[in-house]
Amino acid sequence: MMDHNLDILVIGGGQAGLAMGYHLKQAEHRFQVIERHPRIGDSWRNRYESLTLFTPRAYSVLPGLAVPGDPDGYPTKDEIADYLESYARHFELPVMLETSIESLERMNGGFRAITGAGELIYSRAVVLATGAYQQPAVPAISKDLSSEVLQITPESYKAPSQLPSGRVLVVGDGATGRQIAVELGATHEVLLATGRPRRVSPERILGKSIFWWLDKLGILGASRESAIGRYLMKTDPFPGKALELKRLQRRGVAVVGRVVQADGKNVIFADGRTTEVDVVLWATGYRDAADWLEIPEAKNEDGNLLHQRGVSSVPNLYFVGRSWQWTRGSALLAGVGADAAYLAERIVQRLDTGVMDEAGERTNPSYAH
Ligand SMILES: Cc1cc2nc3c(=O)[nH]c(=O)nc-3n(C[C@H](O)[C@H](O)[C@H](O)COP(=O)(O)OP(=O)(O)OC[C@H]3O[C@@H](n4cnc5c(N)ncnc54)[C@H](O)[C@@H]3O)c2cc1C
Repeated sequence: MMDHNLDILVIGGGQAGLAMGYHLKQAEHRFQVIERHPRIGDSWRNRYESLTLFTPRAYSVLPGLAVPGDPDGYPTKDEIADYLESYARHFELPVMLETSIESLERMNGGFRAITGAGELIYSRAVVLATGAYQQPAVPAISKDLSSEVLQITPESYKAPSQLPSGRVLVVGDGATGRQIAVELGATHEVLLATGRPRRVSPERILGKSIFWWLDKLGILGASRESAIGRYLMKTDPFPGKALELKRLQRRGVAVVGRVVQADGKNVIFADGRTTEVDVVLWATGYRDAADWLEIPEAKNEDGNLLHQRGVSSVPNLYFVGRSWQWTRGSALLAGVGADAAYLAERIVQRLDTGVMDEAGERTNPSYAH
């Protein structure tokens, strides 16, 4: 049974919404997490079949509950989906499933949300935990490709068997683009178009996970405002030496430069070379998709959500799970709990006292994973 008059409405029941729920449960406020999927963990379940996390189990945890299994091993996406489901059960978090928020607006000093079924929910504060990696950002040149070319994104990609035979171009060489390129290399001719240079770090050093080192050296918790944080934001390294470009080449993936143009079945690269392709997989990052957030002052002109460390300049509006919201871990399982704790304290303080926090006007636009 859903409460239609809340103190805090959390929109999104993925890991960010659940971490928020964990911390809000410590306070005596009426809150509810709303999730559009039928099951908790579905955003992980719906990802491509072979996806294994790059964070070991010990660094894929939310506050208060370990992921079962070898802490040094890497969990599959379905394992994490089930972990999230058991997390919500374990802490008895109030999650309303199969309910989507279709509109959110300010009303009488608080907010009014409308669900897909037309129900109204009034809340004094709202946290958007709707995911930083939701809407694929596909470049405009995709429109110049002919309809003979199958175009997909990591969200619509499930397994190699889904693709017709022929030449596949994967555009974008982040961790996701590289993983999918290797997988497709076993069944297809694959080209991987790179963007800015990316650093790949080893998975383990002196027998310890790279995340153990990053944690102990304070790098995992380095804020976006620190020198280390600024460097990491610029270089965006990811672990997994198996994903180094030269190793990909050895496994048959042709590494090519930036895509600058498309024309029919042809793709033109920055060095002027042209190749005919049958499939293009755009692994080119993500953008915010919050048309339903009918609060113009919460977004910039491109529709990106504005906040300072998750605090909007709109009173009592918050975000959690944003990429680099505060640290590299903000949009990872291991770091979202710290952001949720920080926000829960401020949300409760503001509801109890009406005191404004130091919310800024700075932009934290989404970036490619
Ligand atoms: C391919 C890939 C690999 C990744 N690998 C790792 C990894 O190895 N380790 C790691 O720590 N992180 C990884 N991440 C990053 C991150 O952990 C995931 O993206 C994670 O799913 C983010 O959790 P979230 O709760 O912020 O968002 P999501 O999991 O996207 O959850 C948001 C939820 O909000 C719901 N929602 C959205 N809008 C509404 C609405 N209007 N009404 C109701 N519900 C709504 C959605 O249904 C969804 O369930 C990876 C991401 C990707 C894309």
